[in-house]
Amino acid sequence: MTFILALKFLSNPATARRGNQIGAAGMLVAIVVTFLQNSVVSYWEIVVGMIVGGGFGAVAARRVRMTAMPQMVALFNGVGGGAAALISLAEFHNRAPDPGTLKTDISASIMLSAIIGSISFSGSMVAFAKLQELVRGRPIVFPLQQVVNGLLFAAILAAGISIAAGAEQQWLIWALVAGASLFGILFVLPIGGADMPVVISLLNAFTGLAAAATGFELKNNVLIVSGMLVGASGTLLTIMMGRAMNRSVANVLFGAFGRLAPSVGGSAAAAETDGQVRSASADDVAVMLAYANKVVFVPGYGMAVAQAQHDVRALADVLESRGVDVSYAIHPVAGRMPGHMNVLLAEAHVPYPQLKEMDEVNPEFSRTDVALVIGANDVVNPDARNNTSSPIYGMPILNVDQAQQVVVLKRSMNPGFAGIENPLFLNPKTVMLFGDAKDSIEQLAASVKQL
Ligand code: NDP
Repeated sequence: MTFILALKFLSNPATARRGNQIGAAGMLVAIVVTFLQNSVVSYWEIVVGMIVGGGFGAVAARRVRMTAMPQMVALFNGVGGGAAALISLAEFHNRAPDPGTLKTDISASIMLSAIIGSISFSGSMVAFAKLQELVRGRPIVFPLQQVVNGLLFAAILAAGISIAAGAEQQWLIWALVAGASLFGILFVLPIGGADMPVVISLLNAFTGLAAAATGFELKNNVLIVSGMLVGASGTLLTIMMGRAMNRSVANVLFGAFGRLAPSVGGSAAAAETDGQVRSASADDVAVMLAYANKVVFVPGYGMAVAQAQHDVRALADVLESRGVDVSYAIHPVAGRMPGHMNVLLAEAHVPYPQLKEMDEVNPEFSRTDVALVIGANDVVNPDARNNTSSPIYGMPILNVDQAQQVVVLKRSMNPGFAGIENPLFLNPKTVMLFGDAKDSIEQLAASVKQL
């Protein structure tokens, strides 16, 4: 019940923190109850493990930068899958000294958690390495890749089925774990860095399923329940992220997105641009903002990099004190993880009613005087709407180009995560305010105050 309540509370930024606390309290109760059972073999070993693991987790979570959160989730998720696979190895070793003695339900659970846990562990490690830029983020592809992956997966399944059917040699489970780990690596390598958050969400669902299978092995109901909840919610999140990018999960997994040289411009998009970049000073932009009736802030990954959320809130306060109507347009995949912008703006205590989801805010842009794009790029790229040859064609975007004026805060003309040009920057309505978003916003607030 606490886990279900936790998920419910987590679905709203106003209650998310409480949801986390309820979930953690539920897990604490589960651990204490497990400890009270007589079947615990060695308390001190568990306590040492908890101190090492808990200590590492607490320090890492405290120190991690907001922009590095996706790779931390990948790492934590991976070790969960790895733990499930290790438990399977141990259970198989303990329970099957002689072939033919394991019951089918137990051997099937062991096999499932070994396969899914190993894939989740090695896949998450590759996702971590890509996001941390330890390996290159571009899709790594080689000839006959899908065929090799398919054959490997078939071999893993064959080993698993023979274990479940009674072939309980120890080498088979080791081969199964090694093969599944290799599969996890080969499965994630061809997926581009931009799609890593979706992959992590999917691997998170895998870890949940591996944990649930481990629950069957260990006859532990809490593991079954929590594992299935993680599996179900991770699957839903994966589907929703795919939908927000207008791409199927299959396209994310097998499309090697970002492999091809990106297409630049297109006939429809070119019609809205005149090929010129207009750069403005902070003072010019301050005048536009100060005398506007309605301003929409559009935060993106650049706001997270610059850690500008507190300054953005301060600028909103200054504008509101002059009677300007300020709101925030939140794209579902702005930043690098779901809810990234909500978390940052919540940290800066932006009132929740001012945060507007894409469907709610898009009709408002035509009535907006200034759309202030703060380090967002792909999520405001009109090519997604207009240019059928664009790799992001079809992705729903924030229609900032429908505002009377657009101001874009970024450091250069460099592309965003999808690596493609953005015709919005060449639109006659658009002015660019170049610089780090935090510095620019600070200058804007100072200039508006002087008006
Ligand atoms: P983008 O990655 O498209 O663009 C971010 C922009 O911020 C860059 O163009 C960069 O330009 C600018 N920037 C970076 N640092 C700074 C800084 N310090 N100050 C000012 N500007 C800065 O971000 P969006 O949020 O628009 O889009 C997110 C992308 O991530 C989409 O492609 C989405 O599909 C993808 N994605 C998101 C997921 C999610 O869950 N949120 C999941 C999977 C993918 P410059 O270098 O010139 O400053």
